[in-house]
Amino acid sequence: MTRVDTLVNAPAARGRTVLISGASIAGPALAYWLNRYGFMVTVVEKAGTVRDGGYPIDVRGTALDVVRRMGILPRLRDAHIDLRRLTFLDEDGSEMASVDPHAVTGGVAGRDLEVRRGALAGALHEAVRDDVEFLFDDSIDTLDQHRHGVDVTFRRGASRTFDLVLGADGLHSHTRALLFGPEEGFHRYLGYCFAGFTLRNTFGLVRETTMWNAPGRAAVLYAVGDDEDVHGFLNFARTEPPFGAFRDPEAQRDLVAEVFDGAGWEVPGMLAALRDADDLFFDVVSQIRMPRWSSGRVALVGDAAYAPSFLTGQGSSLALVGAYMLAGSLAAERDHAAGFAAYERDTRAFVTLNQDQVGKGDAALFPTTARALEQRNTMLRSLGSMPPPAEGRPPHEALVLPEFRLRG
Ligand SMILES: Cc1cc2nc3c(=O)[nH]c(=O)nc-3n(C[C@H](O)[C@H](O)[C@H](O)COP(=O)(O)OP(=O)(O)OC[C@H]3O[C@@H](n4cnc5c(N)ncnc54)[C@H](O)[C@@H]3O)c2cc1C
Repeated sequence: MTRVDTLVNAPAARGRTVLISGASIAGPALAYWLNRYGFMVTVVEKAGTVRDGGYPIDVRGTALDVVRRMGILPRLRDAHIDLRRLTFLDEDGSEMASVDPHAVTGGVAGRDLEVRRGALAGALHEAVRDDVEFLFDDSIDTLDQHRHGVDVTFRRGASRTFDLVLGADGLHSHTRALLFGPEEGFHRYLGYCFAGFTLRNTFGLVRETTMWNAPGRAAVLYAVGDDEDVHGFLNFARTEPPFGAFRDPEAQRDLVAEVFDGAGWEVPGMLAALRDADDLFFDVVSQIRMPRWSSGRVALVGDAAYAPSFLTGQGSSLALVGAYMLAGSLAAERDHAAGFAAYERDTRAFVTLNQDQVGKGDAALFPTTARALEQRNTMLRSLGSMPPPAEGRPPHEALVLPEFRLRG
């Protein structure tokens, strides 16, 4: 019998009702573990279904142990994008360096996973969809906490009461706003914005990434397989977040077109494809840093509580590990207050260490000045002669998953 089997229907959790907001990475992972521990789980997602798409994401270090314990590691290994080459181009489009991707991303070949974001979200959803209630195309409207639970009204009109509410609704979390106030108080803008979208692979790219840089601007084509589409990615430096563009895809397209006006290589074709893309994902490159992740009967997990930004490559991994830690802490402690406290106590150092990795990779991928770009290029040309990274436990492995002991 595996350890997980012994946890099913843990007495401490049985019958306690939990509402999770968000069905992407953190939400379904949390639902899976809470269900295993005997909680009665409902997940509300504002989209009409589990959303596909998005740029490929990494699952590394401790997070690999989470998906292994969930039984979905083999499926994710099958979905692994075995990227063969990362080519950097000069501003005029000529090749500057072509390297093994692991030399730049810090991933460990043969162990770490890179999968389509939708493939991970789909695998997590399938692992739990038959066991918990999913409410799609709906969201929390109001939350009212009291001694015995949280009264929730939903956008589509229903009202229900839950023992706990957990926000897994991403960087711009509505749950966080309801509980802790406006995003500005927790938002650490890192100086970049990006647009991701798919376009036709007319470039002959197969399992490889090509990256064009000019100071403060980067254009990336990312072929995850040998299929007909390729991921396009346009990243640019900007002093202030473009608040006016957040809710307006047309304004986002205009902004990106303006910033990349006059750029060389394949950028004009990418801008044309961006105009017609139906899967545009535009956002700021930001972190969320909060002094506390819970208040009363409500807590946050994943990007909602501690988005690290894609510059760290750890967003999905922190979401997976955070979900495991939150669910286990709630099941193991005497009540939700102790559970939330244990979750923070045992997870925060890992989160902070990974969030602090920002700045170590972005200078290499997105230099903002001509001088920084030249330094980056010099570094890339000498990559083959650089010493291997120092030994030791890397940040994404810095937490060893506990075996939660359940209270009877
Ligand atoms: C469609 C999509 C595409 C993405 N593409 C990229 C990408 O290209 N690059 C990148 O770096 N990161 C991307 N991300 C973010 C990345 O998935 C996360 O950084 C990381 O996986 C952490 O996951 P999370 O579950 O905490 O948050 P997220 O993955 O952001 O998931 C949050 C979920 O909550 C839902 N939600 C939001 N508000 C509400 C609400 N009020 N009520 C109910 N549900 C709500 C969202 O629809 C989403 O399903 C994308 C996310 C999504 C949803």
